[in-house]
Amino acid sequence: MTGLARDGGLLLPSHIPEVSAHLSQWQLLSYPDLAVEIMRLYADIPEADLRDVVTRSYATFRHPDIAPVRSVGDMHILELFHGPTLAFKDIALQFLGNVFEYMLKKNRRELNILAATSGDTGSAAICGVRGRDRIRIFVMHPKGRVSPLQERQMTTVLDGNVFNIAVEGTFDDCQRIMKTIFSDLAFKDAHSLGTVNSINWARVLAQVVYYFFAAFRVMRLTGAREVQFSVPTGNFGDIFAGYIAARMGLPIRRLILATNENDILSRFFKSGSYSGGPVHATISPSMDIQVASNFERYLYYRLGSNPSAVREAMKQFETTGTLVVPPQANGRMDDVIVAGVGTTAQTLATIREIHDQYGYLLDPHSAVGVHVAKPYLLPEAPMICLATAHPAKFGSAIQDATGKDLAHHPILDALVNLPTRCAILPAREADIRRHMEDQMRNSPHSAGMTGS
Ligand SMILES: *Cc1c(COP(=O)(O)O)cnc(C)c1O
Repeated sequence: MTGLARDGGLLLPSHIPEVSAHLSQWQLLSYPDLAVEIMRLYADIPEADLRDVVTRSYATFRHPDIAPVRSVGDMHILELFHGPTLAFKDIALQFLGNVFEYMLKKNRRELNILAATSGDTGSAAICGVRGRDRIRIFVMHPKGRVSPLQERQMTTVLDGNVFNIAVEGTFDDCQRIMKTIFSDLAFKDAHSLGTVNSINWARVLAQVVYYFFAAFRVMRLTGAREVQFSVPTGNFGDIFAGYIAARMGLPIRRLILATNENDILSRFFKSGSYSGGPVHATISPSMDIQVASNFERYLYYRLGSNPSAVREAMKQFETTGTLVVPPQANGRMDDVIVAGVGTTAQTLATIREIHDQYGYLLDPHSAVGVHVAKPYLLPEAPMICLATAHPAKFGSAIQDATGKDLAHHPILDALVNLPTRCAILPAREADIRRHMEDQMRNSPHSAGMTGS
């Protein structure tokens, strides 16, 4: 439940289990059963309890396969958007909410989550913990600066443990306030303040599962003995989960890292130089990131599992804004990961093309992955493209691509008529903090606190 380690670094398991011997037994397992098999290798939770937590986490999904795979042309689309907020972050955050609640109950503790969001993470985090005992969540978003749909996905959640705050400022203001509050260790300890951000190891672990699940499905369908994945990437969390799956022994020929114009990661895998730049706003906003918080975890393995080399590299990045890793002896940057960019024009063209040819709608994030995957198709290693959001979440991009208002989902359409609750506060740390303390006083943690 800790975010950063005490020395400011990220946490990793002490070793990665090699599971090649289990692959044939796991092939036919349901999604929740497979999740239990994989997670129990990393978790010190009794198996029956873990099974209960996992089963409840995926019972909220609207598709019986949880993460179904669809064949579209010569690719396979892994649909990760059947959770309650229609984005792939639900797969990790539904599990996180339940496992946090389980651990808190066991240790008789409580948790107050503080988060800042400019989009998808906020609603997936809220949905992961709504109605959970011993947890409150406070989510700041910049007032009027998130899409109306994303705002409604957050503010229509009326559970007593959910507190939306519209901050009269920018996303940077929200992040600054968050940092200041977390740096006040007395406040942090007094209120058991925590986060659910993308560096949480349990989130990565939950995402490892669907790489196995999809690979098994596609290998069975095609008779292939290995697969490739294309992964639309922002914070390097999703693709890092694939990297862990490969290290565990899942036969992954290539992991294709796909970015939009915010291409720090694809530049790294081409040149070995990791250096940030200005953030460009694109039609795939959840990938508008220039410093990828999980990249440090990858560096650990890339630099020979040597923590002091990682520390050195991160220090170099902090002081000079650039971090350089030389290519391997074989001249490549990595044996599994290759990278590419999908521009806005290419992304729109891909949405249009796939819709025209196959009648299948990709959201703009997923379309970046499909575009970048094209040159890497191999008959002996089928391509699985991760679809990270339902197209209806990005209806205006779909309209731009196809000329038609095609992307709808009844859950999102229904949000328009639902009541909302949200506090509006100035972008001042003291106001946010006072508001949090007031709400904590008014809503004691108990089984009864969760009614909406
Ligand atoms: C968060 C997100 C991504 C990027 O995932 P990372 O783990 O940050 O690489 C891609 N697509 C969508 C829709 C997202 O919400």
